[in-house]
Amino acid sequence: MAIATRQDAYIGGKWIPGDGEEIEVTSPATGELLGTVAASTPAQVDQAVAAAADAFASWRRVSLLERVELCRAAFAICMERADEIAEMITREVGKTIRESREEMVEYTADHFRRASEDVLRHAGQVLPSTQERTNAKRIIVTQEPIGVVAAVTPWNFPVDIAGIPIVYGLAVGCTAVWKPSEHAPLCANMFAEVIHDAGFPAGTLNVVHGRGDVGSHLVRHPDVGSVVFTGSTHTGEQVARDAALKNRVLELGGNGPQIVLADANIDKAADAAIVGCFYLAGQCCTAAERILVHESVKDEFIEALTERTKALRVGDPLDEATDMGPMCTPEVLTRTQEHLDDAVAKGASIVLGGGHEGQFHEPTIVDGVTSDMRIAQEETFGPVAPIITFSTLDEALEIANETEYGLTASVFTKSLHDAWRAAEELRHGTVHINETTNYWDQLAPFGGAKSSGAGRELAGWMIDALTETKQITFDLAD
Ligand code: NDP
Repeated sequence: MAIATRQDAYIGGKWIPGDGEEIEVTSPATGELLGTVAASTPAQVDQAVAAAADAFASWRRVSLLERVELCRAAFAICMERADEIAEMITREVGKTIRESREEMVEYTADHFRRASEDVLRHAGQVLPSTQERTNAKRIIVTQEPIGVVAAVTPWNFPVDIAGIPIVYGLAVGCTAVWKPSEHAPLCANMFAEVIHDAGFPAGTLNVVHGRGDVGSHLVRHPDVGSVVFTGSTHTGEQVARDAALKNRVLELGGNGPQIVLADANIDKAADAAIVGCFYLAGQCCTAAERILVHESVKDEFIEALTERTKALRVGDPLDEATDMGPMCTPEVLTRTQEHLDDAVAKGASIVLGGGHEGQFHEPTIVDGVTSDMRIAQEETFGPVAPIITFSTLDEALEIANETEYGLTASVFTKSLHDAWRAAEELRHGTVHINETTNYWDQLAPFGGAKSSGAGRELAGWMIDALTETKQITFDLAD
């Protein structure tokens, strides 16, 4: 029977205590000590990569059907343990139990099911021969597993985000070494138990713990074939330098604009802003970090948003009735406060909220935000709806595109013309029309433009990222 809160690294199919510093894991909601994880040393990271490289030699040759059967077994175990793991996510990260359950059931467990379906249907190509006037050439394009995948992940979706490269990686024949966030190592180990209990061979998944230095050592390891990193743009730049010529996917920060045009359905736009700004207390890469509202509907929009924001229940994240829990780390809380202070000092006004008690920040609406404010240019990652007013679509598009980020944008309008124009002009990896920025589809490509990242993940895009495309040419003459 699996133990709920293992605190060791998982290397070569065995649970091994870390030899590095002790890292305490505490609940952001209560301050309660949840566990202590010992970081892995560089030698232990090397051991984990060696285990993954050894396992890769045989795993890449295992039949597709066997890999798919293991994924199906893991799906069933993951569903059985979804509530238990969701509870640990809530304790470690502070997201509400409803948000954690969504992470486990709708995203994480289903990665196993989706990946097994996707690899079964994934096909290569046969190309026509155009170099010579002959009918003897056959050109085959196939995709081979890239090798050892290094997954380095953040705390906000601590299991789901890691699950994408790990599960798709295992399904296509890669092996993996995972460095979860120091803030959420316990739920990470529970996910490793799911993989272990499903019967994936020793070494196919390995987990090492620790802070950024452990992640950096892993990313730089010469036997790692692919780096899949999700985290802040600042860290992502360092990871990109460290990964050098390795294949990589970088999923980084965002500063999502939600644009509300004059003809928008205001109720729908206000509902979307509630999800965009306050889901997971604003700690989402795809959060609506800026709400751009046409001057003619600003008052109506703020009234609708204020009414809905007042109804949000902030409190114990384990309580089913809670809408918003605490902020995960003191650093995120401090940055949120700094951004609000800077905005107010430069002329913005707080419409609602603005304060905090311990790690719990009030859902906040701030009006009069302008481009010179930090809250407009940087990723806040807090429960804040910063309102920026504009008078023309051109102006809105210019503001929406002016930051270094380009992850997700959304536009509310009834005009097909304006929607289409905005969708084409917004330099973001995803543009939603009449939908919150915090909307995802697990079978659609996910990733950012500009400093929000490089590459795309999910479904076939993840398969492409974790495989090497190979051309094989046959000459059948003679
Ligand atoms: P960080 O960038 O701080 O950390 C991400 C991971 O990288 C953690 O495991 C961290 O370790 C590790 N790390 C830190 N330094 C290094 C390094 N030099 N080399 C390798 N690994 C390192 O992000 P957060 O955990 O604070 O997550 C929040 C950020 O993630 C936000 O900016 C958010 O927008 C972004 N994000 C992006 C998503 C996307 O898909 N585009 C999705 C979700 C979040 P440790 O924390 O243990 O020290």
